[in-house]
Amino acid sequence: MEFETKALHGDILKKDRHHSIKYPIYAGVSFSFESAEDMEATFAFKKPAHAYSRISNPTVEAFERKVNLLEGGRGAIALASGMAAISNVFLNLLQQGENIVSASSLFGNTYSLFSNLINKFGIETRFIDIDDLDQVIQAIDDKTRAVFLETISNPKMNVPDISGIVEIAHSRGVVVIVDGTVTTPYLFDAKAFGIDVVVHSSTKLLSGGATSVGGVIIDLGTSTWSGFPSLENHKRKGEWAFLARLRTEVYRDLGACMAPHTAYLQSLGLETLALRVEKVCDNTLKVAKLLKENKKIKTVNYPGLSESPYHALAKKQFKNRFGGVLSFELADKQTCFTFLNKLKIIKRASNLGDNTSLVIHPASTIFREYTPEKKESMGVSDELIRLSVGIENFEDLKKDIQQALE
Ligand code: PLP
Repeated sequence: MEFETKALHGDILKKDRHHSIKYPIYAGVSFSFESAEDMEATFAFKKPAHAYSRISNPTVEAFERKVNLLEGGRGAIALASGMAAISNVFLNLLQQGENIVSASSLFGNTYSLFSNLINKFGIETRFIDIDDLDQVIQAIDDKTRAVFLETISNPKMNVPDISGIVEIAHSRGVVVIVDGTVTTPYLFDAKAFGIDVVVHSSTKLLSGGATSVGGVIIDLGTSTWSGFPSLENHKRKGEWAFLARLRTEVYRDLGACMAPHTAYLQSLGLETLALRVEKVCDNTLKVAKLLKENKKIKTVNYPGLSESPYHALAKKQFKNRFGGVLSFELADKQTCFTFLNKLKIIKRASNLGDNTSLVIHPASTIFREYTPEKKESMGVSDELIRLSVGIENFEDLKKDIQQALE
């Protein structure tokens, strides 16, 4: 099956007894067993069955299997949010005294997780300029377990050389974990690039265009997971060790599971993912070209523009599409606020990957907690605006942007 067909049909384990085309919502918490022996076998992981919805649930499983099919992975686990997915991955894979090498240009809350939270438990993050492969080489030591990056980081919109990074990391026995939220499995075939684990905030495009908050972790089957001290107790599970520890300890104990209603909504969202991503990429390229022609705009950051330093790399990595987020700079903060306030169709809101176009001034909102120096290193200036382009008719977006710039 090709991508669009997989996104519709999924990989259902047990067909619905009424042959419902949409996999139903099993909203309940626990599931009964025919016998005490059956129950014992399930709790000993000898017989697959659902026992308690914080650990697994049929509707959530249908969503997990569909995402896994789209990524071509070993298995997937769905969570309450993208941040739950990112934190579960690192708490599963690292322990005190070990470290992560991460791109410094990151989604703000991920940066905060690394620098304000897991560091307090003895897990260090080494932030580097991911555009410089020498820094990746220098930062890795024998306590490094993972390199982490976003496929297209925002709001800077830089595109890392993923094959180059994977080659360096794998030669040192380190796995590569990617946040693929902005590109989705439709644009980026993470497995083909040798990535070990991909996480998504399914809150964005995957959910159907910001219908609900969710996250997903996919083990792509690239790593054998041998030699990871945190997975030691699960090594009898062989190449399943990462998913086994996650499901039976970390995901279970942290309790950030995806709700069945969310899984239902997000499975519907996947059905139209390809159509929406095509439209979003098409609209975003047109908006980027429109902005570039306007004299009031100092810079436009979008890898789809041929003059972007990331254009060739993005073209190769993301199937000649460039995603739905761009950023641009106006003269100063007040000019940015005036532009935002004049918009009539594009909404002032903090999200991306919605069906509706959304705009934000990152420095005064999602990055407000960082010092000016930190903001600068993350590419967040006071003059910068981030725009997540939706699926509106381009002519309406064009009129709205033009009148707001007047
Ligand atoms: N990763 C990226 C690239 C994001 O943009 C976001 C949210 O904006 C997240 C992760 C976190 O996702 P969530 O809001 O679902 O926790």
